[in-house]
Amino acid sequence: MTALLLAGHGSHISPNTAGLVWRCLDQLRAWGVADEVGACFWKEPPSFRNALGSFCSDAVVVVPVLAADGYFARTVIPTEMGLDGPLTRAGSRCIHYTRPIGVHPRLGDVLLASVLQQMAALNVETQELAVAVIGHGTRRDGRSREAARRNAKSLAARMPGLDVLEAYLDDDPSIASIYERTQAPVILAVPWFLAPGSHVSIDVPRALGLPAGSTSGRSRGRSVYYLDAPGTAGVVSELILELAQTCEPAIGDRHSRGAWRCFPGQGVRHLWREVCEQGELTFGELLLTPSCVQPPGNGQGRTRVSSPAQLRRLVRERPFRPLPEARGLPGGWYAESGDARTLAAVVETVYPGTLVDWSAARRGTLESESLQNVAERQTGNFRIVGDLSLSTINMLSTKLCDQCVRQPTWNGENAEANKLPCREPCNLWLSKAIA
Ligand code: SF4
Repeated sequence: MTALLLAGHGSHISPNTAGLVWRCLDQLRAWGVADEVGACFWKEPPSFRNALGSFCSDAVVVVPVLAADGYFARTVIPTEMGLDGPLTRAGSRCIHYTRPIGVHPRLGDVLLASVLQQMAALNVETQELAVAVIGHGTRRDGRSREAARRNAKSLAARMPGLDVLEAYLDDDPSIASIYERTQAPVILAVPWFLAPGSHVSIDVPRALGLPAGSTSGRSRGRSVYYLDAPGTAGVVSELILELAQTCEPAIGDRHSRGAWRCFPGQGVRHLWREVCEQGELTFGELLLTPSCVQPPGNGQGRTRVSSPAQLRRLVRERPFRPLPEARGLPGGWYAESGDARTLAAVVETVYPGTLVDWSAARRGTLESESLQNVAERQTGNFRIVGDLSLSTINMLSTKLCDQCVRQPTWNGENAEANKLPCREPCNLWLSKAIA
């Protein structure tokens, strides 16, 4: 069996940051490119740490859906997943780790096409124009600038005479310096990010001096046009497949298997068995029966959900709930199940990554990570959570975990039989801890 795992950044603020990854995931599942297809994130569940455990496959390809080959791609993901490099052997499993999407040469073609299209729309000549390719960058790892820099250079080589600049949100040269480095009256600014999250929609336009919510305007005496980020779901899904196939040729034979297919397989049969034996089962704030999944106490006028994207919009994105397990699951919907895989896929869409832990806890094999262990493996700011006082830990647990359908087992306690276990502190918990 083969599995494909997309690794993105995610956000606590906007559903758009993870949105591209979810759209690609839906597309790749609908294409049926692997037996199991999943996603994981730094800021949202499922976490980088836990995602591999959801698969049954003995060959897994992990593709970072990131714009840069920097700190996250080179350090955070390999550390969290326990990867040794491009190929890791873990027991009988082979885990392939590809380069991130943002360094794929075809994204350069997308950038060129987008600049040419905008030039034609504005009817401007090369000599009146500067193009600023704006990446995230980080002072933690200069390699985070490489993808934006390479694409800026490639664009300059393909359009002789065009003034092409690079700039970074969190590194030098800064976005504000664009206005000092070019005299061009018209500036096309291209965010070198894969997803239109809060950096793309708020932070970069603000640093450019554009009015909030606008994609063009006057700033420092220039006309500035803000282009779309280069990744669209259709293009990025194809690039993901291409990268995955170079490691695992069995990935990619397309045969459509339906909207609720190709989800991670761990725990699926276990869940189905319990639901069938008991007739109905409460899972977080879901009521599961062999034929239907819905929030308990659902009234009349319910929406019948027919796809993961529709369900995600209802329970996750509008309004955005960065912690899907937070209490207060939106109601008014139901999904027909009827078989083990559909039932588990609906549960996985509502509570990503919980099924594998639920199943392990029920079988008595759940391995929890203490806060100390989590702190020790950190390479960034979270390292200090190992020094938190007991009162801070308790305060955070009351504030967050008591409002969550999961129950921490990372604090040494056992989850109650009717609760979903939480084997290690989530990113939201860690972020609040260091705030
Ligand atoms: S750490 Fe607390 S808030 Fe976060 S998932 Fe676990 S139980 Fe929920």
